[in-house]
This record gives sequence, C-alpha cells and structure tokens, in this order.
Amino acid sequence: MRALSGERDCNFHLSTPDGRGYVLKIIDREAGPETVDCQVGVLRHLAEQDPSLPVPRVFPSTLGEDTGHVIGVDGIQYTTCLIGFLPGRLLAAGPPPRTVLENVGDTLARLDRALQGFFHPALGQHLAWDVRRLPELAEHVRYIESSSVRDDIETVVGSLRGHLAALGALRSQAIHGDCHGQNLLVDPAQGAVSGILDFGDMIHAPRILEPAVTMSELLTEGLAPLAAVSAVLEAYALRQPLEGAEIEVLYDLIAARHAATLLVHAWRGRHDPVGARVLDHSAVTAARSLRTLLAAGRASLTREWHAAAGTRSEVWAGPDASADLARRHRLLGKGSELFYDKPLHLVRGAGVWLFDPLGNAYLDVYNNVPHVGHAHPAVVRAVQRQAAILATHTRYLHSGILDYAERLLAKLPARLNACLFVNSGSEANDVAWRMAQFATGHLGALVMRNAYHGITHAVAALTPGVGEPLEPHVVAIAAPHSGLQIAAARDDVDAAIRILAERGFEPAAFYLDTALTSSGVYDPAPAWGAAVSDRVRAAGCLIVADEVQYGMGRPGSHFWGFERRGLDPDIVTLGKPVANGYPMGVVVANRDLIEAFQARFGFFSTFGGSAVAAAAGLAVLEVLEREELQANAASTGDYFRQQLEALAARHDALGELRGAGLLYGLQVNGVGGLPARQCAKRIINLLASEARVLIGYEGPDADILKLRPPMVFGREHVERVVEAVDAAVRAIVA
Ligand code: PMP
Repeated sequence: MRALSGERDCNFHLSTPDGRGYVLKIIDREAGPETVDCQVGVLRHLAEQDPSLPVPRVFPSTLGEDTGHVIGVDGIQYTTCLIGFLPGRLLAAGPPPRTVLENVGDTLARLDRALQGFFHPALGQHLAWDVRRLPELAEHVRYIESSSVRDDIETVVGSLRGHLAALGALRSQAIHGDCHGQNLLVDPAQGAVSGILDFGDMIHAPRILEPAVTMSELLTEGLAPLAAVSAVLEAYALRQPLEGAEIEVLYDLIAARHAATLLVHAWRGRHDPVGARVLDHSAVTAARSLRTLLAAGRASLTREWHAAAGTRSEVWAGPDASADLARRHRLLGKGSELFYDKPLHLVRGAGVWLFDPLGNAYLDVYNNVPHVGHAHPAVVRAVQRQAAILATHTRYLHSGILDYAERLLAKLPARLNACLFVNSGSEANDVAWRMAQFATGHLGALVMRNAYHGITHAVAALTPGVGEPLEPHVVAIAAPHSGLQIAAARDDVDAAIRILAERGFEPAAFYLDTALTSSGVYDPAPAWGAAVSDRVRAAGCLIVADEVQYGMGRPGSHFWGFERRGLDPDIVTLGKPVANGYPMGVVVANRDLIEAFQARFGFFSTFGGSAVAAAAGLAVLEVLEREELQANAASTGDYFRQQLEALAARHDALGELRGAGLLYGLQVNGVGGLPARQCAKRIINLLASEARVLIGYEGPDADILKLRPPMVFGREHVERVVEAVDAAVRAIVA
C-alpha cells in the first residue's frame, strides 16, 4: 500500500498479487454524505453511459455497499470508498504536445456528453472555485501585495459582473469543473488521457466552463502558452459543438479562473499557510498569465477562439438608434444635446477607452471627468466599499471627509486651508460668488470673454459662454491671444473695471478658468497672470481660480492651473475630475473667510462631501500619486504637443496649437470655401465615425479642435489621434 497525493481526501494505492490496482479513498470529513453520494453516483453513471471513458470504477464493499467506514486514530469515523487505480503520468508533469492537448479537449467533450443526463442535488454546492462566485472572493484582493495584480483582478471582477447575466442563459449541465494538470493522467505512449480524477468539485454550470477551466489551468500551471490552449477548445468543439454565445464569455471565464486562483491563494496565505505552499507556484504563474491574457485582449482572443470552435459572434446590429432618439426627445426634450452627427451609444468605459454595444472601442480624447481613466478599479472599489457601509452627510463626524480634505489641502498653498463641499463645478462657483460678495461687499464681477463657469442662476450670469449680452454687473476681459501685449492686457482689465464703476458696481470677484478652455484654450505666461491679478486686486476684488478644467495635474508642469498662470487665488473651485465621475465639487479658501461665511449664512449641502464622495475623491488623489499621472501629463503632453505641431505644419487646414499638458486646442482654418467651423465639425465627425477617436470642438467660433483625454493617456494613444486627425484633414481637403 502506498499513499497518493490529494488536496483533501487521503488516498492509498493498493495492489493485489495478481497485478490489479485499487485506490482506497478516505474521504475528507468536510465532504458531507450528499457530496460523497454524488461522487460515487457520477462514477456509476459514467461507467454506464460511456464505459470507454478513463474514469475510475467503483468497487462495492463486502456488504455490497459503495462506501464503508473506518475509525481514525483521532477516534473519528471516516467514510471510505474503493475505486479502480488508473495508470499514467500526471498531465502536470511537463508541457504536453499539441496532440495531447487535443486529446484532452476531446476527452472533456466525451465526459461532458456522458454527464448530460446526470443530476444530483450536491451539484449546487457552494465552491470558492466556481468562477460565478468570483465577486464574493474579490474582497481577498486586499491580501495581494502587488498593486498591478490587484488592479488586474479588479478589472476581471468588474468585467465578469457585466457577463454574469449572460452566463445564466447558457446551456448548463453537470460538469467535472476541475480538470487541471493534477487531475488528469496521460499515457505517454498513447499521447492520450488515461485518467480523469477527483470528482469532488462537480457543479451544475454552463457547459463552456469545463473547457474554460482546463484552458485557464494549463495557462496558470505554465503547461501551455496562450497560443496553444485553443487546441483544447478546437478538439472539444469537434466532438461537442459549441455555440457563439458560449465563446463570447470564454475570455471572462478563463480570466475569472485566473483571478480565483490568485484570490484563493492570497486567502490561504493568510489563513492556511500549508495549503498556500501547494498553490505558491501557481500564484506566480497565474499573475503573469493573467497579465498576458489582459494584454492580448478580449477582442482578439475571442476572434481566435471563434475560429477554433467554428462559431461566429452573434450578429447584432446594436440597439435601434432611431427608436432611442425618439424616446430621448420625448423624455429629455429635443434640446438635450448630443455629440456627433451620428450620436454614439456607449455602454462601458475602461482607461482611455469607451465601448459601444457591439464592443467597438473608441479612444477617448475628450473626457476629463474620468480623470484617472474610465472605471478605474481603485476608484470603483472605493465607491463600492463606502456605499456598502455608510453614505451620510457632513452633519455627523466621519473621518473620510477629513482624510480627503487633509490630502487635498496638502496640494494647495498654505493660505488655502479649509474646504466647503458641494456637488458640481457650478455649485462650487455659485458658493464662491456668494463668498466673494460677502467678503468684499461688492456686487460686480470680471470674467474672461466666452468663459464658462456653470448653470446656476448666479453663475450663468458669470458665463458669457452661454450667451451675451451680459448683465450689467458683469464685464468680460479679452482672452490672452498670442499677440496680446501685457500692457494692453492691463489696460483691458482697467477698462473693464471702469465700465463696472460707470454702471455703479465694484468688482467682488475675478473668475478665471485657468485653462481658458471655452475662451479658446489659451496658455498665457505668468506675466499675464501677474498683470491681471495686480489690477483686479487693486480694485478690491477676490480672485477665483476655477480649476474645474485644468486642476489635478492636467497642466503637467504644475498640479494646478493657477500655479501655471502665476496666480495666488483667494478661492479655488473644483469639480469634474475630483472624483472621477462621482458628483463632487469643492470650494477651497482661507479658513477665516469660510468661518465668517458659515457664521453669517450657515452652510450645508446634503450630498456635498458625503462619505462616498470623500472615498471617491481620496481614491483619485491616491491613484494620481501612485501612477504618477501629473508626470505622465507632462511627458505624454510634450509628445502630444510636438506631434500636433508637426501635423499642423503639414496642413493648411490646421493653424495655431495652444495649451499644455493634457489639454490642447488646435485651430482649424477654412478650406476651399468651407468655413473653419464647418471644417472642424467635419473633422470631429470623421474622427468618431471612421477612426473611432473622440474629440470635441471649442472656442467662441467653435473652430478649435479640443483634445482633453483622461490622464492615463500614453504615447501610443497620441500616435493614434494624430494619425486619425491627419487622415480626416486629408479627407476634407480631397
Ligand atoms: N467651470 C468650468 C471651467 C467648466 O468647464 C464647467 C463645466 N464645463 C463648470 C465650471 C461647471 O461644472 P458642472 O458642469 O459640474 O456644474
């Protein structure tokens, strides 16, 4: 008698003098009678359905029963079972050749075909390894040290969640569910599977999970490279045809099994160090393999697997756009703005990518709200966690908002040392306006020509971007275009202050979108900032730096736009990027001003600074630092600038490039009788429809291409946009 390996059961190899071999199983105490009954039942079922399958036979005890009992040295009664011994070498012994991989696929298909009529209540067992339960395992991600592995797992979990409903609609049956290298024996002489072991992880699940588990395990065990595992699928599908919808989820199932391996290992590392050692090697290869899988991407692998399985992706034209549009007009009003001549229907985002319902990827060169990238796993996790714990307002003590305020204020000049929390950029500017009027006793405002500051009644009045004429208490200053002399800028501010005075107003606030985005994306030197700030301060005015567009590292050279402008603001307002899409606005000022304002008016915003908003904001700051995204804005931004300048030099249709970091405005010129505005519109629409690159237009004349991507934008993305703009310009001049 010889002891055999086993993860849970104790197994002994017995041989009789006449050369027959048996395995005596002493079954794990955790396995209940139902599980044992299921395991024995399935072996009997398989022997009946396909006697040629290499699975163990069950040998009854002398009492004629399938199971027996022994009393262990610990005095506990254990269930035993005698099954036939299968010869062969573990598949895990070394990388198998393609013929063996094909035989594995074929054997799995035969196994699943024979299992189709089998049912047992124990197939509903709750297994950590069942990838459909991955979201429950996901909390163990905290035990994983590497942040990149954590992020990969979060990506997989997020994607799986999106496909769980689809899994429920697939053909399901009893599956072995655990055919990995330690559970498959191979006869090296035949190059064929000679044994399928361990039916302890059987579940009722989508059939496609059977080959998915094996393919995933071959990868995580380092037994086959990604290019080779499709041999298993191909052979499986030859014997047991698969459906297109099954292949569509294969990528998620394989990735999810990788993630489950890593999470179970991480958990065991903490709670069961002995078990962890068994899995140690697989955790290392699983992390590496998961990276390879994610880098290869769903689209190309799914294509490859459709080819291997002889299936096609379900042809679906996507949602009915005209019906959606009519519904939208009815429900949101015809004036509800949409981008692009052919409006885009988006269902998902990840990093710098946006996806339509057909899975087409669009490069996002427009959105600054997903500041650290669409659906960044760290931010999503922070929001999910906090929303699951507590979502209250600032009238209770909670450390989240304090942690966030501390972290944010550390990024600002010492004089700006307290915060008020609201829900949008507009609200932040509205509160700043009340504070400025209160602090100065003045009622007038200075803004930049064509500036945008928001939608509240008071702030719309400070927003020439939504239409002139301005109300009498607001005067606009000329944008700092490249030819503007400092002396002229100073005179212009003085003239604006004089006009206000003539109308009976003194200025309470000078508002500056520090990127001068809607004014035309200008990037004036600090001398301009100093000159303007000199004059407005002399008039007793507070300076409000509206960082809704440019703050949080986007300039690259600085964390804040006002720093790049050489300004020392009294109030800073924040919105869009601060919480990566979770609604949040912040007003930052000196504590004395904030306390005086609170004492006079009181201040409370129901959702402003909720525990969830704070968690989102904190996660954004952490990601910015961890991923060094300001430095990325600087380096990718420089490359972007060079490439765009070179592009503009090649085309008459393109003019001045303005901006810095990851925000640029590229002037479009009229071509062949087509006005500049029309050219810009055509370029933007061509980019979206032909190149799947999303940009916007900007400026008083809507003739500037606006490029303002998430902060995780890289050189490869720059190249793609520049190429696409090049092609679009060529198309409009042709
Ligand atoms: N300020 C600036 C500079 C903006 O660009 C915007 C939004 N485009 C706002 C304020 C208003 O922000 P919100 O839409 O969050 O109210």
